[in-house]
Amino acid sequence: MNDIVIIGAGTAGLSAAIYARRAGKTVLVLEQLSYGGQIINTPEIENYPGIRNISGFDFATGLYEQATALGAEVLIEKVVSIEDGDIKKVVTEEGSHECRAVILATGAKNRPLGLAREEELTGAGVSYCATCDGAFFRGKDVAVNGGGNTALEDALFLSNYCSHVYLIHRRDAFRGDDKEVQRLKDKENVEFVLDSVITALNGEDALDSVSVKNVKTGEEKDLAVKGLFVAIGQMPDNAAFAGLVELDDHGYIKAGEDCLTGTKGIFTAGDCRTKTVRQLTTASADGAVAALAACSYIG
Ligand code: NAP
Repeated sequence: MNDIVIIGAGTAGLSAAIYARRAGKTVLVLEQLSYGGQIINTPEIENYPGIRNISGFDFATGLYEQATALGAEVLIEKVVSIEDGDIKKVVTEEGSHECRAVILATGAKNRPLGLAREEELTGAGVSYCATCDGAFFRGKDVAVNGGGNTALEDALFLSNYCSHVYLIHRRDAFRGDDKEVQRLKDKENVEFVLDSVITALNGEDALDSVSVKNVKTGEEKDLAVKGLFVAIGQMPDNAAFAGLVELDDHGYIKAGEDCLTGTKGIFTAGDCRTKTVRQLTTASADGAVAALAACSYIG
């Protein structure tokens, strides 16, 4: 039996593992895909204090190596439920693991557009990860949808490979950093398509164009693109824990800065919990807070 099972090997989960191991607790981290979480797809991080510039992959790998070198065990197993009690049983698709405390650090996943044919065309022109798939579109025209930092960074990244990059955003002001917007404005092959939403994904076997509608003028047009990179934010994936901890209307785990859920021995950290700022720094900070709270709960 482990002292603490951490669900999720993203920034919050691995930070929690580092703190819990340094506090002398045995730690098992369960992850359904691979370590790193969402940051692994970010080409460049420039706002993590103390690190001037690092790729998401290198950052995540550093965290993983630090946690495992300290003795945390990481297993790739999808958690399906948790049985509560003084000893908790974390049930996965492969088996189960007993522990005294659980830290839920499940992060969030990409939000889909919700358009017809989106699933069918995913992998055939529609992508949620410019860093992973951008190279397939070298020399082609592509579009990015979204107005946050992910969309801005994706558009910048793609502008280095692709002939033309349309940046489609539903408003005329961006949620992401001004610095990134300015960088894009300086790029000759980037075109802003503002106040616009995508209404259809077109093409036989692969994407050929997207239909967009200007929400202010009502004007509709098709943009001929071979690739569409959807970057319209994230949503949590906490349905498996709905009976165990309280979720808000959007599915985030209700918890404050102390990372305590309403359930004894169950803690939460990072993007999966209710919070106003979802950044690497806040995910790391949550990891530390949740781990120390779990250590003090175990005693
Ligand atoms: P985000 O900041 O939540 O932005 C999502 C964008 O998608 C918003 O512009 C939003 O429009 C738009 N959107 C949402 N739903 C939509 C829909 N159904 N149809 C069309 N557009 C829609 O998400 P994010 O860019 O993935 O970033 C998430 C967090 O990670 C942020 O805190 C961000 O700063 C951070 N991040 C940091 C870095 C970095 O520091 N290097 C890199 C990437 C991300 P509205 O603006 O109109 O709401």
